[in-house]
Amino acid sequence: MYTHLKTHLQQELNAIKEAGLYKDERILSSPQGVFIEVKGRRVINMCANNYLGLSNHPAIVSAAKAALDRRGYGMSSVRFICGTQDIHKELEQRLSSFLNMEESILYTSCFDANTGLFETLLDERDAILSDELNHASIIDGIRLCKAKRLRFRHMDMNDLEERLKEATDSRFRLVATDGVFSMDGDVAPLRDICTLAERYDAIVMVDDSHATGFFGPNGRGSIEHCGVEGKVDIITSTLGKAMGGATGGFTSSTKEIVSFLRQRSRPYLFSNTLAPMVVAATIEALNLTERGVDLREHLSMNTTYFREEITRLGFDVRKGVHPIVPIMTGEAALASELASSLFEEGVYVAAFSYPVVPKGQARIRVQISAAHTKSDLDFVLDKFGKAGKALHIL
Ligand SMILES: *Cc1c(COP(=O)(O)O)cnc(C)c1O
Repeated sequence: MYTHLKTHLQQELNAIKEAGLYKDERILSSPQGVFIEVKGRRVINMCANNYLGLSNHPAIVSAAKAALDRRGYGMSSVRFICGTQDIHKELEQRLSSFLNMEESILYTSCFDANTGLFETLLDERDAILSDELNHASIIDGIRLCKAKRLRFRHMDMNDLEERLKEATDSRFRLVATDGVFSMDGDVAPLRDICTLAERYDAIVMVDDSHATGFFGPNGRGSIEHCGVEGKVDIITSTLGKAMGGATGGFTSSTKEIVSFLRQRSRPYLFSNTLAPMVVAATIEALNLTERGVDLREHLSMNTTYFREEITRLGFDVRKGVHPIVPIMTGEAALASELASSLFEEGVYVAAFSYPVVPKGQARIRVQISAAHTKSDLDFVLDKFGKAGKALHIL
């Protein structure tokens, strides 16, 4: 009888709505890009993870079309039966050489890469030390694993050290962290994490989804940015953000770890991998990324310019260097009013409030892209200034 569950869900949904936490999907009737069409209006997009502007890049679109002709649409199989094409192997090799790691394994998402990682490598004899603000997919991956779970306070190295001491009796210790935290644009202190990991004989795992391809001088992510290449044992990341933005994720690590994942990782063994056209398009995204010094320089210039100017206007901006720019409003209602006024003026931004961020720390999260021009940013800054004054934030 569905009746009881139905009533329960209706009550829960109403409660979510009353708390102002109901999430509606915004429907786009255009491709992803700097300008998108939402509700019949053309607006400038300031909330995509389209950091390098590759989501609808002509070279990527034509690589996908060409692959559709050469390698077909679907595989109708998991990897180890008959679901691996030459281009899947090529993409894995390209990711490894891009990140200077021994080997890589593809998943349909970074969420799958993370849920297929911990339980495959560790069990009740081991311990995982996890930053309290890690991404949901790391948290779920750890939940599936029998290892002891030790959370450390966000980027707090004293607390991490305490937890490492607590775990000295475990067989293996693994420190898990986001490379860049999506709500704040914080970069994890990877240098200190790696030093502590060496001292306490721990493995380091970094999920670099908000950094791969565009952060660091060569786009090798937070690991390159922090100067710890060769010290991080396991990297997971997404192909669904800067790297073309369709779907896909991967784990890059040592030969042994990746070989073991191919034998035992459940999302890899029991779920199809990426469609050929996505694989080919991602290879093209890697081509563009590896030659993408100009894109990264432009993104970095845009980020610096926007951060400086929005701060100069008088907004409370969380400091940092990442293209994620959190503009704090404190109150949830104010964040959503600001987002609505900006939308009316043709600027599309996302407001975040509890439970996605702590209570009283509501914000607008702007994300800068290499595809934005200076005049795009000036337009957005002008609208922020006007809306900020109208709402008495400034
Ligand atoms: C976006 C993101 C993911 C999820 O990536 P998908 O490939 O879309 O599953 C995982 N981890 C982090 C840190 C992310 O930011």
